Amino acid sequence: MKIIVCVKQVPDTSEVRIDQKTGTMIREGVKSIINPDDLSGLEAALRIKDKNNAEVIALSMGPKQADNALRECLAMGVDRAILLSDRAFAGADTWVTSLVLSKAVELLSPDLVICGRQAIDGDTAQVGPQIAEHLNLPSVAYVSDIKLESNESLVVKRMFEDGYQSIRVKTPCLLTVLKEINEARYMRVSRIYNAYKADLVELWDNSTLGFDPLVLGLKGSPTKVKKSYTKGVKTAGKVFDVPPKEAARIIADKLKENYIL
Ligand SMILES: Cc1cc2nc3c(=O)[nH]c(=O)nc-3n(C[C@H](O)[C@H](O)[C@H](O)COP(=O)(O)OP(=O)(O)OC[C@H]3O[C@@H](n4cnc5c(N)ncnc54)[C@H](O)[C@@H]3O)c2cc1C
Repeated sequence: MKIIVCVKQVPDTSEVRIDQKTGTMIREGVKSIINPDDLSGLEAALRIKDKNNAEVIALSMGPKQADNALRECLAMGVDRAILLSDRAFAGADTWVTSLVLSKAVELLSPDLVICGRQAIDGDTAQVGPQIAEHLNLPSVAYVSDIKLESNESLVVKRMFEDGYQSIRVKTPCLLTVLKEINEARYMRVSRIYNAYKADLVELWDNSTLGFDPLVLGLKGSPTKVKKSYTKGVKTAGKVFDVPPKEAARIIADKLKENYIL
């Protein structure tokens, strides 16, 4: 079985600051990490590999420094790590990001593609399902458990706030996984040494993928960002020290006032 895990290098958002004048993220000096959901996706793939001898490939689109995230994936135990990097990809929205990733997926022809549910910086949760759409693959989102039935089918658990669905899905397919699916393993010391010693990350640019540059980057992106800004801090709430019935009436009145009821 061949498994691709899509891995995004993201700024550690607990440290992110916004430039109040331009409304853009200040990236200088901000530590980069592997998107947390993707670490869980990697762990899920590596657990399948441990039991079933699968080949696991980490795939990322990003600037050259995303190479670091992929070395971490190699140190965790993936067999190959591929970085899609080209000046023509810069400025891509989710549509173009998923288009580029899907071309690489098509070239690699896997049985299973695993994405994180959501990236902690872009936060759209669109890229996984869009890759599936570009390739006409069946996809299941919000996955919290994966059981391999055979090379041809999986049974996955799809988590909701109030329950879950158990779904049998045929391969090749794409899953987007929740962070809660598992706890990712640490990198192995011997593997860290190998991952950093040699140039093991494969670099694919647009000459490998073969896109017309006009469909890539900012030019090919249908999303236009008009403005981005930090949400203002809310003032402290009002406390009503009243009996429960009176409190319920006040809440209901407020909801009606705001057209929620
Ligand atoms: C007009 C426009 C211009 C932009 N320009 C830039 C830019 O110049 N530089 C920039 O960094 N961002 C840019 N972005 C943001 C960028 O488009 C998104 O970060 C990216 O498309 C992923 O979307 P997301 O973060 O919402 O991922 P989500 O859809 O939330 O991610 C879900 C999952 O998809 C996979 N995934 C997502 N992105 C990648 C990736 N790159 N590689 C591998 N797997 C991935 C991961 O498994 C992830 O967990 C731009 C956005 C817009 C709208």
